[in-house]
Amino acid sequence: MAQTVRKDWDTYFMDMAFMASTRSRCPRRHVGAVLVQGKKLLGTAYNGAPMGVPDCSEDGCMIVEEFENPPPGSEATGLIKKQRCIRTIHAEQNLLLFTDRIDREGSTVYVTDQPCWTCSNMLANSGVTEIVYHRAYPKDQEKVTALMRQRGIQFRQLDGYTPPPDTEVQDVSAG
Ligand SMILES: [Zn+2]
Ligand SMILES: [Zn+2]
Repeated sequence: MAQTVRKDWDTYFMDMAFMASTRSRCPRRHVGAVLVQGKKLLGTAYNGAPMGVPDCSEDGCMIVEEFENPPPGSEATGLIKKQRCIRTIHAEQNLLLFTDRIDREGSTVYVTDQPCWTCSNMLANSGVTEIVYHRAYPKDQEKVTALMRQRGIQFRQLDGYTPPPDTEVQDVSAG
């Protein structure tokens, strides 16, 4: 009989975040997030358009161009132009919209990607006390890390982790 390896809790909940991310219909980025209290799953979410509104697969992405600072350690000097899809509500924000404040006090969020600045700001005020992510997001890393430190929120990257098969879109750099 084949021996199955029992998954640790970090892997178990991060796998769920990646499974949730496969529900996303934005071709540019699939993000999933889950809320965990103790060892109990209290909510799952992914990035998507509001309910009843056409999503990226129906009406295409809603692209805006923004100028931003190059990520730390990059060769680029000066502002760089980036395209971003703004049609979707981010997974972390949907997670907050669909869970109760009282359930979030002292909880952990597992999210496939390091949260952007706006999501981090909202999470910092949400009652969540730990955030675990897998893929890095260098653009906002410095200010997000500083915010989490100030707020006393455990903030860690899950390394040595491999997402479940077929849960990652090919072009995750598109933003
Ligand atoms: Zn999109
Ligand atoms: Zn975000």
